[in-house]
Amino acid sequence: MMNKVGFFRSIQLKFIIIYILLLILAVQVIGSFFTNRLEDDLTTTFKQSINERVEMLSYNLEQAFIRDRSEEDPSLEQEIQTIIDDVNTDNLATTIHVYDNQRRTLGTNRIDGRSEIGRKTTDIDVRNTLLFDKSQQKPYFDRETDSRVYVHVEPLVGDEGNTVGAIQFKASMEEVYDQIEGINNIFLQGSILAISISAILGILVARTITKPIQEMREQALIMSNGDFTQQLEIYGRDEIGQLAEAFNDLNSRLKHSYATIEEERRKLSSVLSYMSDGVIATDESGAVTLMNDAAARMIGLNPDDVIGEDLIDVLKLEEKVVDISKLPDSGSIIIDFSDEETPFIIRANFSTVVDEEEETTGFITVISDVTEQEKIDQERRDFVSNVSHELRTPLTTMKSYLEALSDGAWENKEIAPRFLEVTQKETDRMIRMVNDLLQLSKMDSDELPMHKERTEFMSYVHQVLDRYEMNLPETITLERNIPKGKSFVWMDRDKITQVFDNIITNAFKYSPEGGKVRVNLDVRRHIVIISILDEGVGIPYDKLDKIFDRFYRADRARTRKLGGTGLGLAITKELVEAHHGKIWAQSKEGRGTTILFTLPLMGSKRGKGK
Ligand code: ATP
Ligand code: MG
Repeated sequence: MMNKVGFFRSIQLKFIIIYILLLILAVQVIGSFFTNRLEDDLTTTFKQSINERVEMLSYNLEQAFIRDRSEEDPSLEQEIQTIIDDVNTDNLATTIHVYDNQRRTLGTNRIDGRSEIGRKTTDIDVRNTLLFDKSQQKPYFDRETDSRVYVHVEPLVGDEGNTVGAIQFKASMEEVYDQIEGINNIFLQGSILAISISAILGILVARTITKPIQEMREQALIMSNGDFTQQLEIYGRDEIGQLAEAFNDLNSRLKHSYATIEEERRKLSSVLSYMSDGVIATDESGAVTLMNDAAARMIGLNPDDVIGEDLIDVLKLEEKVVDISKLPDSGSIIIDFSDEETPFIIRANFSTVVDEEEETTGFITVISDVTEQEKIDQERRDFVSNVSHELRTPLTTMKSYLEALSDGAWENKEIAPRFLEVTQKETDRMIRMVNDLLQLSKMDSDELPMHKERTEFMSYVHQVLDRYEMNLPETITLERNIPKGKSFVWMDRDKITQVFDNIITNAFKYSPEGGKVRVNLDVRRHIVIISILDEGVGIPYDKLDKIFDRFYRADRARTRKLGGTGLGLAITKELVEAHHGKIWAQSKEGRGTTILFTLPLMGSKRGKGK
């Protein structure tokens, strides 16, 4: 993520460019002002010197014109030539011409111009000067010599104030311009040097500004990755230094709040992962954004696979809801996740997550496993319906018999006792059932008092079985297989007697052809296993577990005839478990049944065991 700013886009370059542009501008302004003044000064001095020389010359020449000459005196032309030749013209390009008032050349300083002497000139300046008696001074570009020259034409005035001639002085200005150019060159070199030095200085200055900025940028990138351990170096107390300080301050504040957020997040995530309820969070469209382990376990999906999926699909709610936003209003929804083997029911509660503006930003779904609860609810419903059903049958029977009796059957000496017998039997049955239910309900709420005492088990079982032998059905023989010796059990004698009672009564009851009923005692190290075998109708394999359920009867038609309510084994199981034992059944259909249960033995030492 640390993409560097290219040099060509950097502030540093902008600084340098602005800096150099400003310098160039300054140099330009200074330069043009300087060259203008220089040119002015130099040309003015030049012109002044020319003018002075012309003034001198014209004075001498005027004297020559005015002078009265005798025979032996040199002629005007000769004198003029002498005056001109006396003029020191260090430059070959400087020409001097003298004309009379008829524009005839009287003299020149040029060796090659001697032929011109005596000829009339066509020079416009000379003509104008003579015509208007006015001095002409101007620079112009001489095509012949390809150079800039300065021309000064001055009228020569005689003693009567009349124009007697003119002097033309032409001087090359090239030297002046060369000089100007030379100076300009020096100035240019100086400027370039100054700009280069300033540019280097500029780079250094810009770097002192951009370096801390660059460092701040890197720091910001580090911070955006969640690393708040680094601090910026502060280079000075200027604005950038203060900015860096503010940056460091921001860094430590962020570090603090980041740590707080991180801690909250950790707390939340450990709460989420340790809570037994499942939590699923979604965004406002219903796409799953978070799911804790409990939820994943309940739904049976990997949390990573579910992220981004639609909540309605995940919870298999297609048939129940269409619009996710309606879910929170619907309270809780019971969803059946059962498969063929295991029942599994969950309850889902929905709530909306809103931001400060009360806009919905997502939904939270809490799901809990209510299979057990649903099972209990179902059992309770079944129980109530079973109880009412079981009570209604004897009541309707009694009602019809009683009706028959009151309709006149009571007078019939043969029928009346039989009818009364039936109602009595039904009443007994109801009382027995109500007593059974009462006992079960007491055991459910742990209210059935137990009077446990140390009991020698072998002799106890003999006693119980002896009682049965007294009034055994004719078709049945009762065998016992009880080892010798003594074993002690901490138990409530009456309750265990009830256990034997229920099991042995069943064995008789479900053995219509009679046969053997055998009671075995198997003494192990810590437990005694009691098994009661019969040779009766047996129980189908898939119903073996269920016979211990309340109201369960393997064969409804037969048991009804035999008068059972299906509570006997349920009570038996509760009683055995109240003595810390186990009970189970083995059976072959049509061949017989074995009911087995265990009781813990007391240690050989005297005292209370478990
Ligand atoms: P009661 O409440 O009068 O005992 P019940 O005998 O029908 O009624 P349980 O003793 O709880 O009820 O027995 C439940 C069911 O298990 C019986 O209805 C019967 O179908 C089956 N069962 C129990 N013992 C045997 C057995 N020894 N042989 C075959 N079936 C049995
Ligand atoms: Mg029974």
